[in-house]
Amino acid sequence: MKQNISFYGLPGLNAALKKHQFSWKSVLFMTLAGAVTLFVTLVQPPVHAYDVVIQPAGPRQGDTVSIITTEKQGTADVPAVTINGSTFPTFALGNGRYRTFLPTSPLHTSGEYVIRVEGPEGLRNPMVWLSDRAFRTQYITLPPGRSNLGTDYEFDKVDAFKQIVSSDKLWSGSFLRPSQGRVSSEYGVRRYYNGVFAENYYHRGVDYAAAIGSPVIAPAAGRVVLVGRVSDGFELHGNTIGVDHGQGVESIFIHLNSINVQEGDFVQAGQVIGTVGSTGASTGPHLHWGLYVNGVAVDPAPWRNGTFE
Ligand SMILES: [Zn+2]
Repeated sequence: MKQNISFYGLPGLNAALKKHQFSWKSVLFMTLAGAVTLFVTLVQPPVHAYDVVIQPAGPRQGDTVSIITTEKQGTADVPAVTINGSTFPTFALGNGRYRTFLPTSPLHTSGEYVIRVEGPEGLRNPMVWLSDRAFRTQYITLPPGRSNLGTDYEFDKVDAFKQIVSSDKLWSGSFLRPSQGRVSSEYGVRRYYNGVFAENYYHRGVDYAAAIGSPVIAPAAGRVVLVGRVSDGFELHGNTIGVDHGQGVESIFIHLNSINVQEGDFVQAGQVIGTVGSTGASTGPHLHWGLYVNGVAVDPAPWRNGTFE
């Protein structure tokens, strides 16, 4: 069966179709083939999408997960990185590479975390699996009627400190041990108070037992952005120093005896910034060092034993 097919406004094509006596089936086939080709061209991802490398590949609770994105077309535009729907700060490392930190803690549920990297070179969405980790448990008995220590002043100052994300990376290499004292309590210890599990508590740092007056050094270079004193209302933390290492990485040192620095000072790795004490809510002389990444207290051990670019 032959059929004349009219293409409105295309007399040339119409004439050609007539001349070559195309069947309606062959025209339908050519139309479908064209549509499929167009669809495949539109939905295929660009050949040169970002490379995304996640380290460590198998993180456990408390680890800092480093996500490195490498561009391939030199678009030189910081990609947007979201993890389970939240946006995370991303910084250029040079040579078309970008780094995002996903901080984790004992409060992060184990399981799948979906990373979404999106920018001018397309979209990648790898996933990372966070594994459970066993943390030591303490059973604390509190005397009845004990009041909660801490002032709004110190909580506001410390909360503001944890939210700082500055653009310059000031640390380099592995972090140093901030005190020569022995570790008296490790990161991540969970607690029961009077037999009840404290859902939101975990030890947000590392404790070093050391003599009052022994030196506390900066574990990495940074800028002093917080100095709090008992006399100003730091009744829970005691004398406190907060150091910004840049790009969302911060150290806090609490229960200090003396403070040798002022807000705004730049400190070098290894520089003495204060001394160990027992100020604030402390049962004996020790240094508490908390390492925060994007506002989450992470395990400092990988920062001490390894390096983060
Ligand atoms: Zn502590």
